[in-house]
Amino acid sequence: MSTELFFKPVTELAGLLEAKTVSAVELTKAVIARTKAVDARVKAFNSYDEADALAQAEASDTRRAAGQARGLLDGIPVGFKDVISVAGQPLTASSRMLANFVSPYDATVTRKLKDAGAISWGRLNLDEFAMGSSTENSAFQATCNPWDLSRVPGGSSGGSAAALAAGEAIATLGSDTGGSIRQPAALCGVVGLKPTYGLVSRYGLIAFASSLDQIGPFARTVDDAALLLEAIAGHDPLDSTSVNRPVPRYSEEMHRIRREKKVFRLGIPKEYFGEGLDPEVGAAVEKAIGFYKSQGCEIREVSLPHTEYGVGVYYIIATAECSSNLARYDGIRYGHRSKEAKDVVDLYFKSRAEGFGAEVKRRIILGTYVLSSGYYDAFYLRAQKVRTLIRQDFLNAYKDVDAILTPTSPTPAFRAGDKSDPLAMYLCDVYTIGVNLAGLPGISVPCGFSSGGLPIGLQLIGQPFKEAELLAIADLYEGGHDWQRRHPKL
Ligand code: GLN
Repeated sequence: MSTELFFKPVTELAGLLEAKTVSAVELTKAVIARTKAVDARVKAFNSYDEADALAQAEASDTRRAAGQARGLLDGIPVGFKDVISVAGQPLTASSRMLANFVSPYDATVTRKLKDAGAISWGRLNLDEFAMGSSTENSAFQATCNPWDLSRVPGGSSGGSAAALAAGEAIATLGSDTGGSIRQPAALCGVVGLKPTYGLVSRYGLIAFASSLDQIGPFARTVDDAALLLEAIAGHDPLDSTSVNRPVPRYSEEMHRIRREKKVFRLGIPKEYFGEGLDPEVGAAVEKAIGFYKSQGCEIREVSLPHTEYGVGVYYIIATAECSSNLARYDGIRYGHRSKEAKDVVDLYFKSRAEGFGAEVKRRIILGTYVLSSGYYDAFYLRAQKVRTLIRQDFLNAYKDVDAILTPTSPTPAFRAGDKSDPLAMYLCDVYTIGVNLAGLPGISVPCGFSSGGLPIGLQLIGQPFKEAELLAIADLYEGGHDWQRRHPKL
């Protein structure tokens, strides 16, 4: 049976488009029809603009007919997490605060994808302002996991992961502050890549925690993730944290490394295999380790001794930064403005009280507290010091290994409503947070299914700016398995 168009990877669709077996309009129509058929159940999209997507597809077909196709992404519908600006389209961050906001300009990643010919397709649900691990914190709707609709897709980029898994886009973008690309990728059975801090511009991304946020791709295959990364990466004068260094053609580079170097040294951090790890996830990851061994890779135990402080450090630094970033939502220049206010101070209070949801408020309060005088040294400053130690742990480990291998999430997708205690939710991020604190690249690739049929993800953590090698290691695994060819029945 041939796979439906909407389940095919970019690399295959690019061939069909190139051969004119399929047009961009046909492909886009297939994705739109699929979205209309399943999204009432999956609830991945906050909004989409069918006419706009079809107009972009027509333009792509016209380019191609004139011999001016722009590359492998030309004509490919890509979905955007609803924190990434697409000019003229809504941008809500899944918050009441921005329910009626329209992007005045394109994010740099959006512009780059458009320049590559990709079709911007819809805005995908998330936990409000990217705060959460289940997409239940959205002010509008809770996204469902396409593999089991009673379960969460992970978060905060749950819409981006679920839409891709359900065939409602060919690839998507998300943002990852503490795991928000990799964890939902794991829970929905797709590939999710968080690039090195500074590799991808955040201009036009709604800021959550600026020393941690990175934009990255969700894709069906490692090869597709490489293609998307090379389209969005690179220096941007509009984001002062974006690094000025040449961007390799990741896909070609990855294949070159695969040809030349077949043996990788992989580190297994013992701290990531302890208490709280679901036995089925542990077993799937052990099997993946076995696979790498069978390919001649060297497996070494490594230690990341400060791992246990990761969640605590993250929830101090991320909340401190968010309390500052979210101060701009005051009801004056844009966003929700209360109609009940008596005076300007009351306007700030009421607009924020009405516009923000419970989790966002919790974090602003916590973040303000850890930055306040008398507590700054005890919490924020200390957390920054431990953050340095966490980064040092990784850099020490990289003296002996090329990459580090761990589970992505301690459990497969949990049931909606199961983690009403915020602390239980925060613990979903134990294996992903260190990567953000250390500014490293990390990828989650599907590595099996639980006995209940839920996807399991394997996390590979690379060295700074060595995405090509990280992708090669992930590709080696993917090439020996066919998890990516399974799709949920909807
Ligand atoms: N789940 C983490 C949090 O709630 C990470 C979110 C993210 O990466 N945006 O903060």
